[in-house]
Amino acid sequence: MTENPKKEVRVRIAPSPTGSLHLGTARTALFNWLFARKHEGTFILRIEDTDLERSSQEHEKNIIEGLQWLGLNWDEGPINADSGADKREKHTGNYGPYRQSERLDIYEKYIKKLLQENKAYYCFCSKEELEEEREAMLSQGLPPKYSGRCRNNHEPDFSRPSVIRFRVPETEIIFHDLIRGKVKFDTRLIGDIVIAKDLRTPLYNLAVVIDDFEMKISHVIRGEDHISNTPKQILLQNALGIEEPIYAHLPLILSPDRSKLSKRYLETSIDDYRREGYLPETLINFLALLGWHSEEDREIFSLGELIKEFNLRRVQKGGAVFNLEKLDWLNGQYIMKLEPDKLAYRLENFVPRDWLKDKEFFTKVVEIEKARIKRLIDFPKLVGFFFELPDYPAKLLIWDKTSKENTLENLRLIFSLVENFAGAEGKIMALAESRGRGETLWPLRVAFSGQAASPGPFEIMKALGREESLKRIETATSKLESS
Ligand code: GLU
Repeated sequence: MTENPKKEVRVRIAPSPTGSLHLGTARTALFNWLFARKHEGTFILRIEDTDLERSSQEHEKNIIEGLQWLGLNWDEGPINADSGADKREKHTGNYGPYRQSERLDIYEKYIKKLLQENKAYYCFCSKEELEEEREAMLSQGLPPKYSGRCRNNHEPDFSRPSVIRFRVPETEIIFHDLIRGKVKFDTRLIGDIVIAKDLRTPLYNLAVVIDDFEMKISHVIRGEDHISNTPKQILLQNALGIEEPIYAHLPLILSPDRSKLSKRYLETSIDDYRREGYLPETLINFLALLGWHSEEDREIFSLGELIKEFNLRRVQKGGAVFNLEKLDWLNGQYIMKLEPDKLAYRLENFVPRDWLKDKEFFTKVVEIEKARIKRLIDFPKLVGFFFELPDYPAKLLIWDKTSKENTLENLRLIFSLVENFAGAEGKIMALAESRGRGETLWPLRVAFSGQAASPGPFEIMKALGREESLKRIETATSKLESS
């Protein structure tokens, strides 16, 4: 089985809008997107919203915005009325997604066909009857499945509620998964599955099969949690006489303790990571490494490099463990690479409005602290002292065993040097050499930052400028005097 067949590569991400964009969905979207880009194929977004009770527009919006934020644009779909996009143009991002709720006529046609060919039938069993059946099977030590009671019902009573079931043939299904290899499945374990609630309400397995066929999907790349659906979908493809796509089931994403990724351990929606100030390029890189690695085991990849390097053959079978330290490290790397003005722009939504009044000052602060930022959300705490000097105890100004008087004198001497701002740094350093580095530079740094740990005093001084620097030294001196 090859991942690069002669036929055109067409792949899709098919999220159900029943929650925000999940990490796992974003990873699946990325792998599909990379595969499409690599093979110059087409990437499709299909919103699987046939479950009207659980689907919401708000979630759809969240999923779409999340994918766009990550840069995973899709290439095809109904044209957005206001975009003016030409359907033949690729990668414009101006298409709406396909929505299953807008395709009910298509499903109806196929459901009717299955019913007419007696490959599907109406089932009138009530919940209670099904439950009874289930318990009877369990008590006999049998795996529970639908008994097929309505299979040969020649007098359907449509006054009773019904569903449509697929007549599952007893056979063995074998498919070749690009990641997992040969997968075998005994369909006797399945029982006749419900494929639709009625002619216009198809359920997941049927709608997926029809859409994948209608949309000419060449490769179904999705999470391993769907592997048990694959034989059902293949049976439906056989029944409808349509070609099977190539399957690739991606390993599950696991929490650090190797349990299934859950909110108990970690945030699971892309939104949360976005809100905490992880960059989209970080997440793309991180998600790519959740189950895939390059030949030389590199860690840092741009999207362009991923397109070149990505390969389904290098996707692992075993679960992919989520490593938060690695995510933080990666984010720090990407933050460090950004030019200060670009980073300042990205930080705008994370800081109080009035910090942005003086953009030049803001950018200077960003430049000074850049190397220390792991998540954008941590930035305000890190740099708050630049914008407002926090209150601090006078004794913090005193270095080690230095006396208060000595510290005061040093601060006064420094004050007079800072008055002549241009050459101040050199002169303060000369003073520090003669009167002791700790004794002079420590109180100066505390005077500027009001805290025990911060960037060096000269970096801060340069950003603060003459007036503010003098003011802060003065504050420190009066604090000591009155202590
Ligand atoms: N709607 C399914 C989901 O949200 C899609 C599964 C598939 O890719 O076939 O997981």
